[in-house]
Amino acid sequence: MPAAEPFAQLSTLSGGILLEAAAMGLGFVALLFLGSALLPGRRIAGVDAAGKQRVYKFNGLVLFLTVVIAAGLVQAVGWFSLSVLHTHFVALFIVANGFAFALAGWLFFQGARARKPSSTSWRDFFMGVDAAPTWLGQDLKLFSYCPSLIGLALLNASFAAAQYETSGGLTLGMVLYQVFTFLYVLNYFQFEHGMIHTWDIVSERFGWNLVWGDYVLVPFFYCLPGWWLVYAPESLSPAASAAIVLLFVFGFWLFRGSNQQKHDFKRDPDIMIWGRRAQTLDGRLLISGFWGIGRHLNYTGEICIYFAFALTTGLASLGPYLLPAWLTGLLWHRSRRDERRCRAKYGELWERYKQRARFSMLPFIH
Ligand code: NDP
Repeated sequence: MPAAEPFAQLSTLSGGILLEAAAMGLGFVALLFLGSALLPGRRIAGVDAAGKQRVYKFNGLVLFLTVVIAAGLVQAVGWFSLSVLHTHFVALFIVANGFAFALAGWLFFQGARARKPSSTSWRDFFMGVDAAPTWLGQDLKLFSYCPSLIGLALLNASFAAAQYETSGGLTLGMVLYQVFTFLYVLNYFQFEHGMIHTWDIVSERFGWNLVWGDYVLVPFFYCLPGWWLVYAPESLSPAASAAIVLLFVFGFWLFRGSNQQKHDFKRDPDIMIWGRRAQTLDGRLLISGFWGIGRHLNYTGEICIYFAFALTTGLASLGPYLLPAWLTGLLWHRSRRDERRCRAKYGELWERYKQRARFSMLPFIH
C-alpha cells in the first residue's frame, strides 16, 4: 500500500540514514550552485521586485541536461541507483525542511541587518525582507528554481528506477508519468528566461514562503503521483492512455502558448500572434491570442497538465489528485492576487481589459 510507505520509512529512520540524506541533499545543492556559477549562460536585462535594473544569467537548461546525462550514466554503469532517493525519501524530506528553515533564517537576518531593527517583524521571516538577495554574485531567488525542479526530476526518475528494480519493468502509467514530467521540467528550463516577467520575480520578496516552496513543496509534494505509481499495478487501458495524452498536449499548448505570447509581447509589442499583428490596449496590455480570451489561461493550461500527471495513476485512489486539487486552489488564489495587483498598476486600463477578456480561467464559466 503506497500510502503506508512514508510511515514505514519513518519507523526505520536512523541517524545514519539522515546523515546520508544530508550528504546527498547538501552536496546536490552545492554542486548545482557551483555549476550555476561556472557554466556559461544567456544574460538578459530585467527589473527585480525592488524595482532595480538587473542582468540575469540563465543557464538552467545546460545545468539540467548535465545532471540528466550524469544521472543516466551512473545509473547505466551501475555505480549508483537513483532508487536510493526513493528509499531515502522521508530522510531527504526532513533534511530539505531543515535546510529551508536555515536558509530562510539566514535571509531574514541578512536582510534585517541592512534595515533598522524596529522595521522588521516576524512576518518578514515568512514573506521575506529582500526582494532579490544575492550570494557570491548569484541571484538566490532565481537559482533556487534549479534545486527545486532538478530535485523534482531526480525524485521522479527514482520512482521509475524503484519500480524497475522491484518488478522488472515499468507500467504504462509510469512511462506516461515519466515522459510528462520530464517534458514539463525540460520546458521550464527552455523557457527559464521567461521568469523575469513572472509574479515571483517581479513582485515577491524571498523569505520562508518561497524558500520552503522551492526546496520542500515542489520536489517532495509535486512528485506525489510518481510515488503512488511505484507499487501500483497496471491500470490504464489504451483508450484511457490516449485521452490522458490528449489532455496533457492540450494543457501544454495552452500553458506554453500563453506564457510565450505574453513573453514575446513584453519584448516587442509589435509581434504577430496567430498570423495577425498583436492587438493591445495602449500598447501595454495584450488582447490578442490567449490573452484576448481569458486573463489567466496559462494557469488553466498548467492545471490540465497536473491533472494529466495524476490521471496516470488511474482512478483507484484520490490520493494523487491532492496535487492538481492543490494547484487549482493555489492558482485560483494567485489569479485573485494578480488581479488586485494589476488593477492597482493599470487602473482604468485594467477595467477595459476585463471588458475585452471577460473570463478569468475558464472561458464562458469563470
Ligand atoms: P503570469 O505569467 O500570468 O503573470 C501575471 C502578470 O502578467 C501580471 O501581473 C501582469 O504583470 C502581466 N499581464 C497580465 N495580463 C497581461 C496582458 N494581457 N498583457 C500583458 N501583460 C499582462 O503569472 P505568474 O507569474 O503568476 O505565473 C507564471 C507561470 O508560472 C504560469 O504559467 C503559472 O501557471 C506558473 N506557476 C506555477 C506554479 C506551480 O507551483 N506549478 C506556481 C505559480 C505559477 P506586468 O506588471 O508585467 O504587466
